[in-house]
Amino acid sequence: MTKAKGLIFLGPPGSGKGTQAQILAANLQIPHISTGEILRKAIAEGTPLGKQAKGYVDQGDLVPDELLLDLIKERLNQADAQNGWILDGFPRTVNQAIFLDRLLAEIGDFSDCVVNLEVPEAVLIQRLLSRGRQDDTEETIRHRLEVYHSQTAPVINYYQGRGQINAVDGNRPPAEISDSLKAMITG
Ligand code: AMP
Repeated sequence: MTKAKGLIFLGPPGSGKGTQAQILAANLQIPHISTGEILRKAIAEGTPLGKQAKGYVDQGDLVPDELLLDLIKERLNQADAQNGWILDGFPRTVNQAIFLDRLLAEIGDFSDCVVNLEVPEAVLIQRLLSRGRQDDTEETIRHRLEVYHSQTAPVINYYQGRGQINAVDGNRPPAEISDSLKAMITG
């Protein structure tokens, strides 16, 4: 039997990784696990997680690992995640990537494939400004991009060092990107 597949979607804010992850997950019939979505839902519902995370998300800062790591572990152990999943927005730091490696080793029989959606910075800013999410103000966008460069970009090097990165040009019409991703994963 082939190993179940975990797909890890990397890319800066505004790269379209959420949209693409959602389309591909529906296509492959595996869960799309977005930490940003989980946090936004928790904030909207006013759960204890939401209350603790709100300040960080509003500012465009990363929420502390204590709030997320157990949650990821639980989510990847759920029944619907046993045949595969797409992680969107996690790992966001090298520490989270190391945690995920350990977790996958624990779960066993999982191969992970990392996709990095590449989009020029000027395009990202334009997209984010037109998106209108609550954390998409000009100041927060600038900050989220800074956080991305300082804390998340090193995750690319982490996987690159193991030859695990699949770079995908994210500056194309969405349908074209979807086709490339589908071909890459199923091909
Ligand atoms: P996203 O929808 O992926 O852009 O995430 C929105 C916000 O949720 C981020 O700006 C962070 O505040 C928080 N967030 C999402 N994923 C993570 C993560 N893996 N680690 C820390 N914070 C996260």
